[in-house]
Amino acid sequence: MTQPILPLWIDGKARASTGARTADIFNPATGKPIRRTPLANRQDVEQAVAAARAAFPGWRETTPLRRARILMHFRELMQAHRDELIHLTSEEHGKTREDAAGSLQRGIEVIEFATGVPHLLKGEQAEDVGRGVDCHSLLQPVGVCAGITPFNFPVMVPLWMFPVAIACGNTFILKPSEKVPSASLRMAELLRDAGLPDGVFNVIPGDKEAVDALLAHPEVRAISFVGSTPVARYIYETAARHGKRVQALGGAKNHAVVMSDADLDYAADALTGAAYGSAGERCMAISTVVAVGAAGDPLVEKLRTRAARLKIGAGEQPGVDMGPLITAAHRDKVRQYIDSGEQQGAQLVLDGRGLKLPGNEQGFYLGPTLFDHVRSDMTIYKEEIFGPVLIVLRVDTLEAAIQLVNANPYGNGTAVFTRSGAHARRFARDIEVGMVGINVPIPVPVAYFSFGGWKASLFGDLHMHGMEGVHFYTRSKVVTSRWPADEDRGPAGLSMPTL
Ligand code: NAD
Repeated sequence: MTQPILPLWIDGKARASTGARTADIFNPATGKPIRRTPLANRQDVEQAVAAARAAFPGWRETTPLRRARILMHFRELMQAHRDELIHLTSEEHGKTREDAAGSLQRGIEVIEFATGVPHLLKGEQAEDVGRGVDCHSLLQPVGVCAGITPFNFPVMVPLWMFPVAIACGNTFILKPSEKVPSASLRMAELLRDAGLPDGVFNVIPGDKEAVDALLAHPEVRAISFVGSTPVARYIYETAARHGKRVQALGGAKNHAVVMSDADLDYAADALTGAAYGSAGERCMAISTVVAVGAAGDPLVEKLRTRAARLKIGAGEQPGVDMGPLITAAHRDKVRQYIDSGEQQGAQLVLDGRGLKLPGNEQGFYLGPTLFDHVRSDMTIYKEEIFGPVLIVLRVDTLEAAIQLVNANPYGNGTAVFTRSGAHARRFARDIEVGMVGINVPIPVPVAYFSFGGWKASLFGDLHMHGMEGVHFYTRSKVVTSRWPADEDRGPAGLSMPTL
């Protein structure tokens, strides 16, 4: 059966791609294609940029308060259409409805943050910086901005970017993952219904061809990216070479350090959710446990019993804890990681490879998997797996745990489980990771803080949303002014003033 082809969204309207390339979108729970996505070409990108460029002057002139009101209306429409957005997320990504609802909520919180933009755009002011001289700063939009997003959060990650960008007076082009584009197109319709002028927000589903056209386009001033580390590095280098500002968030290998003084039942519950929620396809998933001293044996046993109890199935079915992986190819890649862990001598405590789901044989499922006694030279430690595989390494001291985490090239999220304030403080202070949890397994910052990692998890300087997002999407300008009365006008000096 021929599947329907989704449109692009340019200048406030759905329109077909000018090219012929398309790709299947699958429902990972059934393994069946459900619709097709266009793969935008250079001409499509040109049209999107032209629309965003044309809309920019009028949008910039729209006062921040009016922009905020449109976002308030958009927020109400997102709430009103929650079920539909949750369904689209679960249908194309595979995550459970509850998890899709949570990620939608976190995204809506960024819209709520962005509605405060009249306050957020206030600059600084100082009088008498010289005799009769005052100074103030302005935060002004950068122009046409573009966002390139991954498959694992079809709603939330785009919402990390565009509400803040457009609140600040920019226009925006979103290039969602070609695996999950439907929710982005639906959000474009809701923005139109909220009163957003045509051209301010555009969506071009596509792949590398569309991305490369955005990276090289002289009218695109800023690129926000979230995805894997190799692509993040490429985006950062290419966009910077074309003179753009860039924030490129990459992959992760998040460690949880569990001290022997921790509440091990609490830690095991928290880590089971953090490792296997969304089938491990979260950039903030805990994929690595570092068990310190005597914590090891009891913790591994508690993790094994909890993981073995998880209910696997289609994300839209009630009572399911963990859905499928995104594609058959990704499921096979994760299986190969499990093979390699076994071959390299890690102890396989729970093996998800044999999972059978009667009635869902074609879905891209893999059961929860747990490895113990993993070493840092093994492939399953060195690489991001992005699946339901939790590995445990053992060390003797907190110091050794901190050294291990800091030696890892990634630095997205981490957590420590302990009852000791001294341990917690030392960990938070010395760890080289952007987001740190203390007895909190997935320390995703709320919208009014900023989200981002360190090292190979972030290329660029500024994190997303919160005030760092506002700074990324604005240029600052400092105005120095003097209004001398006639009697105060002295002769022009040729030296720099000393007062
Ligand atoms: P990906 O890097 O394959 O794709 C991300 C985006 O880049 C997609 O829109 C894709 O179309 C585009 N893309 C892919 N290959 C490209 C290329 N060669 N040139 C130009 N563009 C290209 O990532 P994914 O598989 O969609 O998402 C999973 C990854 O994202 C994981 O590594 C995960 O850790 C990471 N991630 C990171 C964060 C974070 O906040 N740091 C958040 C979510 C996901």
